[in-house]
Amino acid sequence: MNRISIKLATYFIVTVLIMESLLMVYLHQTIVHSRIDEEYSQLMSKGSNHREVLEDNFSDDTMRHIVLMEYGSERRVVIADEQFNVIIRSEGETKTVDTLLNRISSQEFTEDQVIEKNWKGEDFIASLHPYKLNGEHAGYVILFQSTDTIQSLVKKLNFHFMLAGLASLIILCLVYIILSRFLTAPLIRMKEATEKLSRGDFNVKLPSQGKDELGDLSVAIQKLASDLERVKKERIEFLASISHELRTPLTYLSGYSKVAMRPELTEEDRQKYLAIIDEESIRLTELVKNLFDLAKMNETSFTVSKQAFQSMPFFSHLYKRMLPSFNIKGIQLEMKSLENFEVCADPLRLEQIVMNLLDNALKYSPTGTTTSLEIEQKNDKTVIRVTDQGIGIPKTDMENIFERLFRVEKSRSREYGGSGLGLSIVKELVEAHGGSIEVKSELGKGSQFTIMI
Ligand code: ADP
Repeated sequence: MNRISIKLATYFIVTVLIMESLLMVYLHQTIVHSRIDEEYSQLMSKGSNHREVLEDNFSDDTMRHIVLMEYGSERRVVIADEQFNVIIRSEGETKTVDTLLNRISSQEFTEDQVIEKNWKGEDFIASLHPYKLNGEHAGYVILFQSTDTIQSLVKKLNFHFMLAGLASLIILCLVYIILSRFLTAPLIRMKEATEKLSRGDFNVKLPSQGKDELGDLSVAIQKLASDLERVKKERIEFLASISHELRTPLTYLSGYSKVAMRPELTEEDRQKYLAIIDEESIRLTELVKNLFDLAKMNETSFTVSKQAFQSMPFFSHLYKRMLPSFNIKGIQLEMKSLENFEVCADPLRLEQIVMNLLDNALKYSPTGTTTSLEIEQKNDKTVIRVTDQGIGIPKTDMENIFERLFRVEKSRSREYGGSGLGLSIVKELVEAHGGSIEVKSELGKGSQFTIMI
């Protein structure tokens, strides 16, 4: 389940624990050693004081005085001759003192030194101070210090360090809870959201996460969900429109072919119906071709292979091909091209672009108007302008006309036909050439499409 948070918390806790343990051991050792060093140096300075007093005034009284001075303290003092025979000693436990004296009795010492350092294992630490009389080595002052204080200090320290360790563990646990709530919980929510998306359920609601990376990710997933939902909606609409578009000419075709088959029909009427059938089948073929083009462009398999060709022959040929349709509808088609120049484009695609624009001009212009096709060269670019005196496009629809399947008003499309695909194909083709398309239009007066390639 909560795998990310467990992983994160484990890494975090292990790292912090290792660091903390190292730090604690270091601190513990430093405190203990500095305290013990303090004890050693105190012992050494006390011992050397006693030695100096004894050397200055060697007498039984002085020795008693020294022993008396340590009375009530944690220290014991032993004054011995050079063979370690005890001359005088403090009262109290003697076993440990004797053991130590036995251990060192065979050695000779000439300088002050700590002779028992084992504060962990022994009841006492001890220092030894050789004293001299008349310049001759005469014996030793040996000072013992109980290790009780050090050991209780170490115990206290251990207890406090344990407390600190426990406290940091509790803090780490709290951090874990906070981490899983603020970091991993949103991640898990996002993971669940993406799983929901992959199941095809796009109704995803992620709470806003602030402005950090998690917030960005959440916004991206939310956007992905709404994009997918839009794509799904568009696909359904697209398919519905396609089926509608295919059904309309097919109904015409089957209806008119049935009528055309009637034996009582005059030859003239039959020709009329056959002409309609022909027209509709051309429209159907065109539509299927357009759809195929669009699909190809989406798959990005569509490529524009540019080549250089002369403008005059190309556009004149196109003009001649379109002219009869305009003539039939009683629309005048003019071609304005003053000079011949070199065009760099994909001729097939360019033909498709211009034909689509002329087709729209023809479709949306009434009889008796004029449509013009203007071609000129500007800054090494080819500018193609199709201007009509047709019904125009409402201002509110201007931005949408290049969208797939967009048609101005349903009633218009019923009247004029069309699938709402033409201009989207034109735009995609122009952009594939690296060019641009602009439109100016006034409702009731006409439209002008300008292409720059
Ligand atoms: P359609 O196949 O429906 O013509 P288009 O993508 O070519 O689809 O055009 C989109 C819409 O833009 C059309 O429904 C139409 O209303 C409007 N339109 C396009 N060209 C013209 C024009 N020359 N005059 C008036 N309206 C136009």
